[in-house]
Amino acid sequence: MRSYRKHWSYSAINQYLRCPLQYYFERVLRLPKPTVGSGLVLGGAIHEALAYYHSKLKRGSVVNIEQLETIFHIAWESREADQKIQYKRGESRVTQMDLGIGLLKTYLQSPPPENILDVEREITVPLVNSQGEYLETPLVTILDLITATDDGLKIHELKTSGRAYSQFETDTSLQATCYTHASWSQFAVLAEIDFVVLVKTKTPKLQKISTLRSEEDFFRLGDLVEKIERAVGNEIFYPIESPLNCANCPFRAPCREWQPQPASTTSLQLAVNGAAQC
Ligand code: SF4
Repeated sequence: MRSYRKHWSYSAINQYLRCPLQYYFERVLRLPKPTVGSGLVLGGAIHEALAYYHSKLKRGSVVNIEQLETIFHIAWESREADQKIQYKRGESRVTQMDLGIGLLKTYLQSPPPENILDVEREITVPLVNSQGEYLETPLVTILDLITATDDGLKIHELKTSGRAYSQFETDTSLQATCYTHASWSQFAVLAEIDFVVLVKTKTPKLQKISTLRSEEDFFRLGDLVEKIERAVGNEIFYPIESPLNCANCPFRAPCREWQPQPASTTSLQLAVNGAAQC
């Protein structure tokens, strides 16, 4: 298991933006999560199987679907042993595991990635705001797959999704900005990001959709994280209720009981200052 000093990750930034109260329960109070959504389990197990596949490809070995099925099953069962899986209406363990195997088969039917440089590469880099100031807390990223291209580098981000991605979605993706920033800081190359989306339709599909970022985007990321950091420091946590956020939230019970703490004059002033600057 990896152990980190204090850091930002894309998922932490995104969680604060989606629902600051969920961020508080998970990352500040560290409440146990009684359930995990089936989508997360499926995505995690697929990632493990494909990381194995890419690592073998990098070493020039051949992998068959039976080996990937075994990795997928082990990954699923280890998650199942840790937490209760919450299935959506119409789903079951059998349907989701069959879907996972179908997605892996679909991936294996596409041409394998070439010129693999690294798999599951962890990169820690500083964040910089638009004033050129470094933030105290660094950004940690884990890149699924890095390949060499004629022009430089390509980062492949593997996704499982109920629908295909739009170009607008990828062009505005904060995750793509985080990952391009990491590769820019580490390798001094503006990598292209390729979202490789395994679409969970009845007949699974594979979508590849690319996006690019510029240095300007990295400063904007620094500004955004700086504001979030300030908000967290000032204990600005509140619920954002929506079907998308709450349907699979493991903290629905504490959320219903949550009441904002009366702020002291000092922290109230800090919060107001922080909010005013957000
Ligand atoms: S139930 Fe909804 S509003 Fe409450 S913490 Fe979870 S995501 Fe946020």
